[in-house]
Amino acid sequence: KLLIVSVAVAFVAFIWSVPSFDPESLKGARVLVTGASTGIGEQMAYHLAGFGAQVVITARREKVLQQVVEKCQGLGAQKALYVAADMADPLDPERVVKFAVDQLGGLDYLVLNHIGPSPFAMWDGDMEHMRWLMQVNFLSYVQMAKTALPSLEQSKGSIVVVSSLLGKMCSPFVAPYSSTKFSLSGFFGTLQHELAMQRRNVSITICYLGLIDTDSAMEKVKGFTNIQAWPASEAALHIITSGSSKQAESYYPWFWYYSSLIKDWFPYFRDLGIRSFYNYEP
Ligand code: NDP
Repeated sequence: KLLIVSVAVAFVAFIWSVPSFDPESLKGARVLVTGASTGIGEQMAYHLAGFGAQVVITARREKVLQQVVEKCQGLGAQKALYVAADMADPLDPERVVKFAVDQLGGLDYLVLNHIGPSPFAMWDGDMEHMRWLMQVNFLSYVQMAKTALPSLEQSKGSIVVVSSLLGKMCSPFVAPYSSTKFSLSGFFGTLQHELAMQRRNVSITICYLGLIDTDSAMEKVKGFTNIQAWPASEAALHIITSGSSKQAESYYPWFWYYSSLIKDWFPYFRDLGIRSFYNYEP
């Protein structure tokens, strides 16, 4: 009975929290998207362009960014600009936000999406990589949020953080990556409380994604697992709709919401289940 009631409550809570999305609200919106040269970030840039937003995109590879910007212009973006930056450089996160604020005359959305490459393998003790990845995947997010907060407060804007189920549940082969994603939940979850308590008008949306069919993700998990991967374009649209409707948390695909609710009920079976997803022979 308890199980049925819990599932019913979770279902109602989920329906209650389904975002009501108004595409018009994105017309002319000033948006900075990180990690937008490829993958989900690139797809977000195209959706935003189609909604008539003003976008600044960033990543390291200038030539690729240039091509994405050209495509955004063709899709109807009111403005599309790029700034090349390396988030491993502690000066770049602030420089990128300042560029976007200057060029767009303010900021409505800061979409934090980039990740540095990290091996899909048993942890090998590489502390250098761990520190580097913490800077790229976590500290740079904090730096960008800090720099953008005054502009976002002025515009009653939003920070959208792209995270992963691996920032909610532990899984093998991803220790450095997973650590950075758990850190994001800790920092931005705390900031959500503090902004609300201080009645500061900035919303934070944390998006938890399952496996998405980007080239980099598919390349990594090849041979390790047969878990279904979901389309990057749909994941990108999900992130945009969740952010623009100011959801505190969102899940794509939707059913991971339930897994995250019940994940601690039977930890022994959960962990057996997680390990069974992977092919591994020591
Ligand atoms: P990709 O690997 O396809 O793209 C990563 C982006 O980050 C690229 O634009 C890359 O561009 C940029 N980038 C890499 N290193 C740096 C750096 N040092 N400084 C600045 N930019 C950098 O990632 P996905 O699209 O697959 O993932 C996007 C987000 O979604 C991530 O936050 C990821 O954790 C999350 N996610 C993805 C899942 C998946 O299965 N794909 C599952 C769950 C979550 P460049 O090389 O030009 O710098």
